[in-house]
Amino acid sequence: MSDPPVRVLPRLTDENRFFWTSGEDGQLRFLTCRTCGYRVHPPAPVCPYCLTKTLEPRPVSGRATVATFTVNVQAWLPGFDPPYVVAMVEIDEQPSVRLTTNIVGCAPTDVFIGMAVRARFEHQEDVWLPLFEPDPEHSASGPGAGRDPAAGPDPAAGRDPGAGHKPGDGPDPAAERSGTEAGSA
Ligand SMILES: [Zn+2]
Repeated sequence: MSDPPVRVLPRLTDENRFFWTSGEDGQLRFLTCRTCGYRVHPPAPVCPYCLTKTLEPRPVSGRATVATFTVNVQAWLPGFDPPYVVAMVEIDEQPSVRLTTNIVGCAPTDVFIGMAVRARFEHQEDVWLPLFEPDPEHSASGPGAGRDPAAGPDPAAGRDPGAGHKPGDGPDPAAERSGTEAGSA
């Protein structure tokens, strides 16, 4: 494995630190309202749904669905070898929670809207960046597979999502991000 590309890392604050360090144990977490169960992301002090302040980080499955994506072919940053996929994913537990991320572990041409993905983390300095890869458990029959069949050629069925045979072995190139926006909707 070569070194991961140099990313613009989010600035940690008391409010968002749990999110960017959550991947240390392999789990994705969101601020969740103890009163109504609503997940608040980006983190905020008050639940916008029930207006209580009973918020705490709680883990989710890490499963998500690709809501939209673009394939970047421009070499914006050294170390980020195009092409790579910048995507917005909706987490399964609450699709209104969207993350801007990269889809890794498959060729950009294999990504499609409605694709089932799961979180994996790239550890850099003091943050664990949530990236997403094809979810092998949902590759053929997941909720996303039938959602928009016209959007992509052949949903990952039959492929080996773990193979990750990317041409350049450039692991997990990143979105060009501005500050802490990567986790924001
Ligand atoms: Zn609430």
